Amino acid sequence: MTDRLMSLAHNPLTRGLVRALGLPQPTQLARARVGWSARPFVDRVLAVGGTPGGFARQQVHAALTEGGARVVESASEGADPELHGIVFDATGLEGPGGLRALYDFFHPRGPRLARNARVLVVAAVPEEMERPAAAAAARGVEGFVRSLGKEVGRRGVTVNLIYLARGAEARLSGPLRFFCGVACTYVSGQAVRLSTGVRPPSAVPLHEALDGKVALVTGAARGIGEATAQRLAQEGARVVCLDVPALEEALKATASRIGGEALVLDVTATDAPARLVAALKERHGGVDIVVHNAGITRDRTFAKMTPEQWDAVLAVNLAAIVAVDEALSEGGVLRDDGRLVYLSSISGVAGNFGQTNYATSKAALIGYVAALAPRLAGRGICANAVAPGFIETAMVDKMPLMTREVGRRLNSLSQGGLPRDVAELITFLASPGAFGVTGNTVRVCGQGLIGA
Ligand code: NAD
Repeated sequence: MTDRLMSLAHNPLTRGLVRALGLPQPTQLARARVGWSARPFVDRVLAVGGTPGGFARQQVHAALTEGGARVVESASEGADPELHGIVFDATGLEGPGGLRALYDFFHPRGPRLARNARVLVVAAVPEEMERPAAAAAARGVEGFVRSLGKEVGRRGVTVNLIYLARGAEARLSGPLRFFCGVACTYVSGQAVRLSTGVRPPSAVPLHEALDGKVALVTGAARGIGEATAQRLAQEGARVVCLDVPALEEALKATASRIGGEALVLDVTATDAPARLVAALKERHGGVDIVVHNAGITRDRTFAKMTPEQWDAVLAVNLAAIVAVDEALSEGGVLRDDGRLVYLSSISGVAGNFGQTNYATSKAALIGYVAALAPRLAGRGICANAVAPGFIETAMVDKMPLMTREVGRRLNSLSQGGLPRDVAELITFLASPGAFGVTGNTVRVCGQGLIGA
């Protein structure tokens, strides 16, 4: 689906007209074209600061410099250069007075942020604080991050927060690389929790991060599933691409393009879980990454919704997922250190007109990962949900024109995301380096206004 306003705003012949009409002028967002590199921050200048007593600073500094960044720590150092990012360690906040440090650090540096820069703030977990005043300050950071994201988003800058549990410092490196990297194109205004529960993997490769891993992506014939299969393969995974018989041709094309395999299967079929387990066992002896992406909509106001429309959505988007997971677990197919990723939606976070069935299924997945994560942590397995906002795929093509145009602009970046943007987040969550992130639901919505 073409974003016509975006094309007009960047065409030298029509740019002036777009400005004169006062229409939004979305920034051309930076996107990664290749896979991860060991030194993603080469030629990038990042300002790093923090509150006294912070426990993340050392790790932040080490991870950024290891990634090739030029880290600027004092205000006088390199006063001029454009900043490609700002990372602030707020874990030392002890009370309301300390919050002034956010103002003092960000106020002079905000105007120096380059287009498509990345901002990341690390705060302590409010519930872990002994004093309510310290918890208030830690939670206050979230309001700052979300508001800043809304102000700088029109320049393509994304702003996120990590709540870092005590003892999880060593898990910062992977998330830092994602949230400060170019791949964090459409994830903004998010607060992700880093915890200590999941056993660390034996190795955390920095590029070709999924080499030797077997991944299953459902709904891989097109859209987000296709982009995810492609992205996982680019990072070295062997991908089993699954989709319905009606899309067999497209599925086979995806699989052959990425050197993966096609598995034609309707996930709601009674024998689907057993067939899936058998296929993964026979061909690969197991699976390391499962992306539950297949999903459908059958939109109708609740008053007019038929039981068939209700059932169809719940069957694909929820019941089939639970059945497949149970079969994978009972069949001993899901390997230790595995990664499970579930496609939820902002409709699951906020609800949506005409989507009672869809929002029920997508909200259920948020509860599902929260319950699943602690149960799997001992085996080194992470389970997270991804909640896309407006992503340019066949699913949104079905929307009426005006709904689509409004939906596309209702976010801090004033544009829809691309399937690749969702695939980037999924790839990060599927990687060994994401071992601190489990039980989270991360939105990839350009900081959409709905449900924010
Ligand atoms: P899409 O319709 O382009 O692709 C979904 C794929 O799932 C299709 O290839 C379809 O054939 C497959 N599928 C459907 N039912 C299946 C079944 N029974 N068995 C096997 N495969 C089946 O959709 P998309 O936009 O790429 O969405 C992918 C996921 O992301 C979905 O779960 C969707 O709910 C979610 N999502 C999308 C958006 C968006 O803006 N596009 C927003 C929020 C959430």
